[in-house]
Amino acid sequence: MMLLAVSLFLLLVSSSLGAPLSGPLMRTRNKLLLISFDGFRWDYDRDVDTPNLDAMALDGVKATYVTPPFLTITSPVHFTLLTGRYIENHGVIHNMWFNTTTQEKKQYYMAQFVDEYWDNGSLPIWITAQRQGLKTGSLHFPGTAATYQGEKVQVSQVEARFYDHSNETEWRMNIDKVVGTWFAEQDLDFVSLYFGEPDETGHEYGPDTPERREMVKQVDRTVGYIRTAVQKHGLTDHLNIIITADHGMSTVLKKGLVNEIILSKIPGFSFRDIKFHLIDYGPTGLMLPKEGMLDKVYNALKGGHPNLRVYKKEDMPERLHYSKHPRLLPLILMADPGYVINGLFPVQSSKGEHGYDNQVMDMKPFFRAVGPDFHKNLLVGPFETVSVYPLMCHLLGITPEIHDGSLDDTRHMLVSSKGTGTDEETQDSVRANVFIALAAVAGFLVVVGMVVTAHSTYKRRKDSVKSKEDIFDDKKETSTQTSF
Ligand SMILES: [Zn+2]
Repeated sequence: MMLLAVSLFLLLVSSSLGAPLSGPLMRTRNKLLLISFDGFRWDYDRDVDTPNLDAMALDGVKATYVTPPFLTITSPVHFTLLTGRYIENHGVIHNMWFNTTTQEKKQYYMAQFVDEYWDNGSLPIWITAQRQGLKTGSLHFPGTAATYQGEKVQVSQVEARFYDHSNETEWRMNIDKVVGTWFAEQDLDFVSLYFGEPDETGHEYGPDTPERREMVKQVDRTVGYIRTAVQKHGLTDHLNIIITADHGMSTVLKKGLVNEIILSKIPGFSFRDIKFHLIDYGPTGLMLPKEGMLDKVYNALKGGHPNLRVYKKEDMPERLHYSKHPRLLPLILMADPGYVINGLFPVQSSKGEHGYDNQVMDMKPFFRAVGPDFHKNLLVGPFETVSVYPLMCHLLGITPEIHDGSLDDTRHMLVSSKGTGTDEETQDSVRANVFIALAAVAGFLVVVGMVVTAHSTYKRRKDSVKSKEDIFDDKKETSTQTSF
């Protein structure tokens, strides 16, 4: 009699579990386009008319700003967008590839083709999505050229060596390719798309100049062009778009007006004590002193200039998440905003720079999102860009790799209506059903147990209690897995 009742319950439970997986609750997955406009600072829309970005904010979500990981430079931060990992965890620690033994260095562009520099443990979202059955593409996005654990992004375009990153006609051709060919014709699920501006203009002229404002207008026209293309191809209701950047930009203080940081002028410091260094590269530097010279170099540089901070890598502030990777050199140098670090003499001519501490407001990028899964006309507070990755995985309905972000940072941006949940939400609802079903079974068994207790021997009663405990344990385990 009791066995029959339990069997009936189990039958009910299994049928209620089956429903969400095969029934009408299963949703169709929307596509996702991730766009980066390199160096678009969070407040660049404040002194320029940006009708298309404004329209996108009305139709979607705008964050006041986002916080990039440190070091705030292009390749490392883009790889954080693709992996959700801090830079010390994903290992792409600089734009430059280097070998401290051979003294060899490769600049940003050539470093794109050094597979082992990118492929060192953290999988970019393209590969994860492809392994879970999705089709992905990438155009010019840092990391596109590399092979990861034997796999590459399926559809890709890497820019030519001396590509003109500012040409608006090229931009439109690239958009036509991504939206018209890759999404509409080839039916890709996810594409990352990169534009090299307004970074280049910010470096050349400075962030607070008419030239930068003109470039922001070009970005704004481009946003309009993208949204028109999406509409033209009938993708508006099926494509989510995230637009963000890697970092911001800060004005470099004019030569002659400030006390420039020139390492060779610091008393007690000598390049003869250095085995390898990455300096003359904006506001940060990495140094490997010769054997036995670490403390001498450190003590000379520390306090050597009022606007220069020097850390042994293990002493880096925890919040910067830039100390744990073995590729990081023993000494890390950071300049205050407005300063750059020169080696022998001043060689840097950029009027704008990035790479500063990620707490500096000038380093914060913008963030916008629009599409069927996003709320409309919603302004949200800041969050860290490590959390863009779990948001993207959620939108694509794929299981993320280990990462440093949190979906809780962005969940409030999403429209979550019943029956249109992603796979993760579906899994949540399955877990919820398991919980309810097990609770029902447990409750039922309590009743059965009470009846049995009244009419059976001590031994049989003990067995019944044991079975209740087993189910209670299961229920506890299930409830801790359930997240809403
Ligand atoms: Zn950049």
